[in-house]
Amino acid sequence: MMAKDLFAIFGNPVSHSKSPLMHNLSFKGLGFNGCYARYRLKDGTKLKETFFALGLKGINITVPHKEHAYAACDVLDPFAKKVGAVNTIVEKEGKLYGYNTDAPGFLKAISEFQNIRTVLFLGAGGTAQSTSRILRDEGYEVTLLNRSEGRLEKFKEEGFETYTFERFTAKKYDLVINMTSAGLEDESLPAPKEILNSVIPQAQACVDVIYGKDTPFLKLAKSYDKPTKDGSDMLLYQGIIAFEYFTEQNYTFKEIEKHMKKAFVI
Ligand code: NDP
Repeated sequence: MMAKDLFAIFGNPVSHSKSPLMHNLSFKGLGFNGCYARYRLKDGTKLKETFFALGLKGINITVPHKEHAYAACDVLDPFAKKVGAVNTIVEKEGKLYGYNTDAPGFLKAISEFQNIRTVLFLGAGGTAQSTSRILRDEGYEVTLLNRSEGRLEKFKEEGFETYTFERFTAKKYDLVINMTSAGLEDESLPAPKEILNSVIPQAQACVDVIYGKDTPFLKLAKSYDKPTKDGSDMLLYQGIIAFEYFTEQNYTFKEIEKHMKKAFVI
């Protein structure tokens, strides 16, 4: 019998991750001889040696190691190279190939909202970095609003419109998206309530990247009867695209989706 291909998620923390369940259900459902585990990586600079020491075929990378993952790759997909963040690595003939599947996953997740042109991002962290670029490449106009100035610098250099809370004056945005971790482990809003009360009523819909939770931001959006969406589809879609890389495009998106989405009802 062929040896199983081993996969894992690297992060710190990783105990909460849904990825092992998502990928293992898909391996099982599709009859692929693979196994997916989790590994708490404390030191991001040890990513490459850990990968080989564990004899892995591929990994996903989550907070806080996406930049270390980028640095560890021998070959980078053009989009991953552009954004400087890798969340999927596949080993081929001793070389590490890096991809970013968060951004295309996110793009697909918001594609159900029609006639969207302007998007307001609340937050300017790592997730905002890759998703803002793919949205811009697709023709959306992205504005970033962040609590502090520091993280906005990079975006400003790349020509994005950026604001801190103090400098912001509300106008109409078709889609408002919470890209912060506000509401993840607390009950805080991603921006002052007055600001949210001025942008949400004008929006067509509101999205949160946090998943499996009715965040204060989503609750506020619902109080205005806005269509809302959490981060579950983004998580599912980034996983499907990663699975396509892990299994070298041997299965269609729909085939993988059928099995992987079971992880969200268990
Ligand atoms: P980062 O740590 O890189 O960035 C965090 C951002 O949140 C910063 O802009 C920070 O602002 C802001 N922030 C944090 N707390 C608050 C607060 N209380 N009020 C206002 N702003 C705040 O995080 P990531 O980009 O990696 O992750 C962001 C979120 O995306 C997380 O909740 C994560 O769970 C989610 N995520 C979801 C995925 C999915 O598949 N659904 C995939 C990846 C991430 P400042 O600069 O001022 O500190």
